[in-house]
Amino acid sequence: MNLILFGPPAAGKGTQAKKLVAERGYIQLSTGDMLRAARSSGSELGVKVAGIMDSGGLVSDEIVIALIDEQLESNPEAAGFIFDGFPRTIPQAEALDKLLESRGTKVDNVIRLKVDDEALMQRIIKRFEEEGRSDDNPESFRKRLDAYNAQTAPLLPIYAEQGKLTEVDGMQSIEVVSSEISQVLGA
Ligand code: AMP
Repeated sequence: MNLILFGPPAAGKGTQAKKLVAERGYIQLSTGDMLRAARSSGSELGVKVAGIMDSGGLVSDEIVIALIDEQLESNPEAAGFIFDGFPRTIPQAEALDKLLESRGTKVDNVIRLKVDDEALMQRIIKRFEEEGRSDDNPESFRKRLDAYNAQTAPLLPIYAEQGKLTEVDGMQSIEVVSSEISQVLGA
């Protein structure tokens, strides 16, 4: 089972992915988490992406596709993957299809968490206070939202066309969102 959790930053993708990991044993592949780990480790990659991430821009397709490839390669027995924050561009989505196809599998479901911009901004202000992420300031966040609208949202009609897309109201409580996701995924 391969699921893409789709939505703008702070829509709740990470929270829901972690619940699915706990409940179903799937593996969460968050490119944002991988890039933050690279930064904390002080690796060459981390140094390279730091400025782009802080400003709210997108890291190159090549970098994030390589990170995903590496994870698929090192988890051949996974019960399923939850893609969180990936793909974010059309080339990333095409690359994901190829990576999965070469392993005899595919994207099964795309769940879009819908949250309005004002609520996202409120969540970001709160997360910044709690976690202090350098790209959660209002200016970078605005740029992240713009990147989502310009480069990521165009994937929605593609997945809809493929019959894989389900929309869930992400303004509801964590528990209600989680139970609606479970209904989509089935037992
Ligand atoms: P996230 O935690 O998913 O919001 O990601 C934080 C930041 O990491 C983004 O604002 C981008 O700079 C970078 N990033 C994460 N995933 C991707 C991706 N799939 N493509 C490009 N940049 C990404």
